[in-house]
Amino acid sequence: MYRTKTCGELRIENLNESVVLSGWVQKARKMGGMIFVDLRDRYGITQLVFNQEVNAELCEKAAKLGREWVIQVQGTVMERSNKNKHIPTGDIEINVSELNILNSSEVPPFTIEEDTDGGDDLRMKFRYLDLRRSNVRANLELRHKMSFETRRYLDERGFLEVETPVLIGSTPEGARDFVVPSRMNPGEFYALPQSPQTFKQLLMVSGFDRYFQIVKCFRDEDLRADRQPEFTQIDCEMSFIEQEDILQMFEGLTKHLFKAIKGLDIPDFPRMTYADAMKYYGSDKPDIRFEMKLVEIKDLTEGKNFIVFDSSEYVGAICAEGCASYTRKQLDELTDFVKRPQIGAKGLVYVRYEADGTLKSSVDKFYSQEDLKKWADRCGATPGDLILIICGETEKAQKQLCELRLEMGSRLGLRDKNTYKCLWVVDFPLLEYDEELNRYFAKHHPFTSPKPEHIALLDTAPGAVSANAYDMVINGVEVGGGSIRIYDSQLQQKMFRILGFTEEKAQAQFGFLMNAFKYGAPPHGGLAFGLDRFVSLFAGLDSIRDCIAFPKNNSGRDVMIDAPAPIEPEQLDELNLLIKKEIAN
Ligand code: ASP
Repeated sequence: MYRTKTCGELRIENLNESVVLSGWVQKARKMGGMIFVDLRDRYGITQLVFNQEVNAELCEKAAKLGREWVIQVQGTVMERSNKNKHIPTGDIEINVSELNILNSSEVPPFTIEEDTDGGDDLRMKFRYLDLRRSNVRANLELRHKMSFETRRYLDERGFLEVETPVLIGSTPEGARDFVVPSRMNPGEFYALPQSPQTFKQLLMVSGFDRYFQIVKCFRDEDLRADRQPEFTQIDCEMSFIEQEDILQMFEGLTKHLFKAIKGLDIPDFPRMTYADAMKYYGSDKPDIRFEMKLVEIKDLTEGKNFIVFDSSEYVGAICAEGCASYTRKQLDELTDFVKRPQIGAKGLVYVRYEADGTLKSSVDKFYSQEDLKKWADRCGATPGDLILIICGETEKAQKQLCELRLEMGSRLGLRDKNTYKCLWVVDFPLLEYDEELNRYFAKHHPFTSPKPEHIALLDTAPGAVSANAYDMVINGVEVGGGSIRIYDSQLQQKMFRILGFTEEKAQAQFGFLMNAFKYGAPPHGGLAFGLDRFVSLFAGLDSIRDCIAFPKNNSGRDVMIDAPAPIEPEQLDELNLLIKKEIAN
């Protein structure tokens, strides 16, 4: 038997027990005639003691142990004289009587500690060693628990987990597809699912009624901290339901996860319309852990010959409480922040509401104390506050103010990772107009149903049509989203037409779905959670990478297995593929 106990379970109650442990050498240190070894496994760390005076030969053997060697020991549980309060096994140690070296190890390229000395690239190259670190392992344990509790909750409510295929055709979630050449069908390609969207709808047509799947999805997009080319969704769909049923069911799932995993009781989620989210937060995923709402002051700024405001469609402000004392340098920093290309504001105007009640602004030339007072009043500012103003084209300026709001929220410590504020954003527009391409795109996806009372508007004012679509947002992160679907073949066809599909193209790409709708499709709807984002939110991580066992880097590479990689000419041949000359060389 390799072990009778794990390295995480022995306590003072186990005193004098004879045990066998197996694990990795975290570190070994010599002190006088003693050698102390920290033995680690998935469950924890236990201290081993080798005593020169008791067994010199064994001690000599232990002296050879290096970091990450794999060993098995037999020994007796003893009380430690020097207790370690930081670990659960800290009251005891093992007086070793037998040492069996199961495997040696090269010196690892970085320390296997919570605070490792290994940089990102190195840790990714040796991810299997990185995964030995307790904090990384804890993220995966959390992920397991969240998947498990999700399955429990949904199973208890009659949901069936059904697998859908991975080699499919294009699914229109708005990203680029990853494609796979078909050897048996020369010149033809599969696309990997951006989501199982069409399949789960077909399962509803098949009568499955309540479906879910914890499933890999693939999107070829530029990568960021919260994006990976392959990621996992908790994908769900229900029949004979209205939007309210979906919101209740999945608000329930989220509350269940918070309770089961964090022991937190989350109150009912507030609901906010998309229009309000944009107006008050400049974002469709508002972080409502703090107020600091956007306030429009355009009307109060007009007619004072300040051309910058006068010529702007929108002038908006936020009020940073207690920040009137910001120095010139701090204000310059904020100006630089909003002017960064990623944010793109032209500038930042500020008004300091001084403690003595006077107002000082960067536009004093144009505005009197009375003018500024009106702005301050509208913003709900009081002496000691700082008002920050951005102007421009409405949507752009709102988004810039959103970034500034988040930055100020962080600076003021208002975005505590252990505080969770959940909400639903509802009533999304059905369509989004692309000025450059001169056409409409589906804001969610083309299967999303317009609100029934807006169907008539589809012909006259498509931009004004709202959808039965919703997103779940927690702490400014979109953790999930979905919609009530179109289930009428005619309406679906019309939707494709509005989105610029020709009849032929719609038929070729989605004929199967429109046909299925001709055979008694039930009313249905659903949503999908991004599991990676959900887990990283629970874990308080900045990047979803840290809760994925084997993630890709920002160039979409797995640096451990070195993928993607060129393939052999014979393989290319078999697939009827030619590589462009300039790339091949
Ligand atoms: N398929 C959608 C997505 O991936 C979710 C849904 O509408 O259920 O965002």
